[in-house]
Amino acid sequence: MAAVQIRGVEKYFGATHVIRGVNIDIEDGQFTVLVGPSGCGKSTLLRMIAGLEEIGGGEILIGGKVVNNMMPKERDIAMVFQNYALYPHMTVRNNLAFSLMLAKQSKAMADERVMKAADILGLVDLLDRFPRQLSGGQRQRVAMGRAIVRDPQVFLFDEPLSNLDAQLRVQMRTEIKELHQRLETTSIYVTHDQIEAMTMADKIVVMRDGIVEQTGSPLELYDRP
Ligand code: ADP
Ligand code: ADP
Repeated sequence: MAAVQIRGVEKYFGATHVIRGVNIDIEDGQFTVLVGPSGCGKSTLLRMIAGLEEIGGGEILIGGKVVNNMMPKERDIAMVFQNYALYPHMTVRNNLAFSLMLAKQSKAMADERVMKAADILGLVDLLDRFPRQLSGGQRQRVAMGRAIVRDPQVFLFDEPLSNLDAQLRVQMRTEIKELHQRLETTSIYVTHDQIEAMTMADKIVVMRDGIVEQTGSPLELYDRP
């Protein structure tokens, strides 16, 4: 069974039909990249999977369960955003722990999960710093840490590298891919950058104007003579 199933999904903003009957199976353990030009609907689709945008038609299943009417926190997902979405007045440690505290996890369990995420992401020495005292790459790592502590089945990435300079972007691609492999998780990654899609994806889904135009491995899609 696919980890995430997208079945005939639609979305309208007012009279504008932005997602038009999309079907995608996201296989368990795979790194799937949604790619396509700006405005084609990638982010809207990802936000519907996350529960941040209402599903306008069809259904989305995560782990075999229909999630159309579930709150974001009831879905087995965590999302990494482009603008990091860190709390500026909180240390790295508290940024990592915050959603666990809200979820009423015990302090001991929260500490353990925070330390594990910090270790995986190389943030142990930065736990007492504030976001403004971090580099762009370090901030992006904290954003990933906030997703990891939730221990989700599925990671959702919304153009996470587009605010970074070119060199860092290349480095972070590798880090995100290694993280995906180490955690043996399922990832859905949105980008408009074909190179990112080619270098990171197990499976690429090409979108255009609210539909899926093509699906395949990087070799199948881009290595044609
Ligand atoms: P992408 O992520 O591929 O750049 P989006 O999913 O952000 O595309 O947007 C798809 C289309 O939906 C675009 O035409 C965009 O202008 C429109 N759109 C996105 N969000 C809203 C919104 N909240 N209200 C109205 N239109 C929106
Ligand atoms: P709560 O889970 O108590 O509602 P949170 O601070 O965890 O409060 O998050 C607010 C909302 O955003 C919740 O619905 C939560 O599930 C969701 N959320 C928090 N962090 C993430 C994340 N990294 N990815 C996806 N959703 C998140």
